[in-house]
Parts: sequence; C-alpha cells; structure tokens
Amino acid sequence: MSYPEYFQGIGVVDKDNWTHPKHVSYAAKEFKECDVDIEIEACGVCGSDIHCASGDWGERRDKLVVGHEVIGRVIKLGPECHTGLKIGDRVGVGAQVASCLDCERCEHDNEPYCPKFVTTYNQAYPDGYISQGGYASHIRVHEHFVIPVPEKIPTHLAAPLLCGGITVYSPLVRGGCAPGKKVGIVGIGGIGHMGILFAKAMGAEVYAFSRHENKREDSMKLGADHYIATLEEEGWTEKYFNSLDVMILCASSLSQINLDDLIKVMKVEGKIISICVPENDEMMIVKPLGLLGVYVSNSLLGSRKELLELLHMVAEKDIKIWVEKLPVGEAGVSEAFIRMKKGDVRYRFTLTDFDKEFPKN
Ligand SMILES: [Zn+2]
Ligand SMILES: [Zn+2]
Repeated sequence: MSYPEYFQGIGVVDKDNWTHPKHVSYAAKEFKECDVDIEIEACGVCGSDIHCASGDWGERRDKLVVGHEVIGRVIKLGPECHTGLKIGDRVGVGAQVASCLDCERCEHDNEPYCPKFVTTYNQAYPDGYISQGGYASHIRVHEHFVIPVPEKIPTHLAAPLLCGGITVYSPLVRGGCAPGKKVGIVGIGGIGHMGILFAKAMGAEVYAFSRHENKREDSMKLGADHYIATLEEEGWTEKYFNSLDVMILCASSLSQINLDDLIKVMKVEGKIISICVPENDEMMIVKPLGLLGVYVSNSLLGSRKELLELLHMVAEKDIKIWVEKLPVGEAGVSEAFIRMKKGDVRYRFTLTDFDKEFPKN
C-alpha cells in the first residue's frame, strides 16, 4: 500500500533491537485543507532521533519512523494553503509540525513554545494520529511548518539546518549574538559545529569549549577564535573570567557539564542558553551564588520566521556545514543510529537516495 493513503518508511519495530530498523508501511495522517504533501529527498539524522528511537524519552509508538530534518518536493497543496508554495518547490520540515497558530506565543513568532506543540514524530495530534518522521517516502504537514529552501543550498547541506541548525541559531539571535559580541559554544558536535559557523557569520568573536583537546583543530577550521579544553587546560576560568556576552550549551547531556565553572567566564547580564533535551531524569544543577548577575535559559528549536532567516543567511554567506551522506534504507539508518550513539560522525549525517529506497509507482 502506498501514497496517498499509505507512506513507506524505515522504522523501529523491535524496541529491544532499535539499532536495526525495518522498511515499514503506515497510514498517512488525514489530509487537511492547509496541509502540504512532500515527497522526501533527504533527511538529516539528529541526536533526538537516537534519543527517541532508543527509548531514552520513554514510550515509543509501534513502527516508529523518526527524522525531523526533512527536505523534499511539494506534490500536493491543500485548498487553503496561502504561503505561496507551488507544486515542485523544494522545501524543508523541521522538528515541529503543529501548534495552535492562534495564541499570544504563536502570534509573536514563538510557536515552538505553544502548549499545543506537536513534534514531527512520536506525538499525537489533537485527533489522535501519532506523527511520523522523515526517514520516509512522504510527509504531510501544515503549510506553516513547511519552509522554502533557497536554491543555493545543496539538499544534503540544507537538511541539518531544519532542526540542528535552527536549534542553535534561535538562541544565538535571542541571546544577542552580533558583531563585536563574544560568544561561547560549549560542546563541539553536530549542533555545536553549526554554532561556531553561524556565530562567526553573525560577526561574533567565538570561543569553542570542549572537554578535551581533540576538537581543537576542527573548531579552528570552522572559524573559532579561541579553544578551551575544559578538562585539560588549567586555570581557564581565571584566564577567561568575565569574557563572554552569550554562551550556548550544545552538549547532548548536561551531566558532564560543570555549569558552575562555565558561569565564571560570563559577563554580568551575560546569557547562558542551553539547547539540551537530555534523558528524562537529568537536571540542570547550579549553585545560586555562582550565578550572580547571569541569566540561564533553555531554548527549543526556532520559529518559522527564524528558519527563513537562517536559510537566507546560509545561502547568502555560503556557509558550508560538515555533513556525511548515507543512503536511506535499513542498512543506512542502522549505521547512522550506531555511529551517532558512539559520537562517530564529523559532524552530521544526511540520509539520501530516497528515490532508490522508495521508488515511485
Ligand atoms: Zn499557540
Ligand atoms: Zn532534532
């Protein structure tokens, strides 16, 4: 069974063997008047995919298809679509597929913070349909969450911007990253490497923080002005005391971050923004007296407006993120899961070759 009633995907079917997903078929969401159908061409592999597929975040649906860095072509538009999309347009979908679009937050470009937020996979829509992600032949999404992709950005480099990219871009903007500002990026992985590239493109002086020396060379190549190996360098909290205006915590877990030390390098009224969505039982721990004068927040994704801005900036400034391609399919997704879990990627995977795994019929 296939499109338009059924989609194909690569999904977790055996929860105890989540690193070996299978080719599956599942019912599509009911088509609503503001919906867009997208034939998928590529999908980035995000840390969240691994958290969700492995069960770190709790219950998983049956035949769970993850993936929320989707790039594809518009093949059908609902009668009430008004954002200007056309059949054949290349578009992206990130980690959010619904919100109320009506509350104070939604009206002020804060739709990721809407209480009616629906994430791209493994969450129920108001009608009970459980969302399915982008390691798939198609996705059906409300047009507000469908973002046109500028021609200049190659598909495999565009995909990771839709979740990883926007997740670090939004707090950079909201934290005040700008020419002349000093910005720290903590955790140099999939998202952190984009953080260095974007902060630099936005004109900031960039400080890259990682626990060990092994990310120094890459960080400098990406454009960092300073590199601090927090577990290996002595006296860095004194050396960089009172330096930073903004710091983005990009680590996938907060348990190995010493926030009390990191706070020491912040200026008064500096902002520390975490983008971490760790395992359910993790806490952000900080000594109140260490926190004097510094703001701490946690950010989630970014708005449609910010996604449009980010894609424009990446196209305009010709920013090239570091991506490794893998063909979608049972073997490719399995390899992506296993290597992501080990941190064996420089710095992001994009699944490609969707037309081979999901041929048109
Ligand atoms: Zn809302
Ligand atoms: Zn993500």
